[in-house]
Amino acid sequence: MANNINLNANLVRLPQELMDYAIIHELVHTKIKHHGKEFWDLLVRCLPDALELDRELDRYWVMLGDFPEEY
Ligand SMILES: [Zn+2]
Repeated sequence: MANNINLNANLVRLPQELMDYAIIHELVHTKIKHHGKEFWDLLVRCLPDALELDRELDRYWVMLGDFPEEY
């Protein structure tokens, strides 16, 4: 099974911690394709600050005016 990780070009403009978060988020999607409870449980296990970073990243996408398709 092919796992495609789509990293948006705007990621290079993000602060390091948000870039790390976005990459881990995509890596978790290689195992879990949806945003259900299972996904967040695994993500928080990988990165305890995941929920907070996710909110912060949302604000960045708004600022950049460019939402990734899958996010
Ligand atoms: Zn996602």
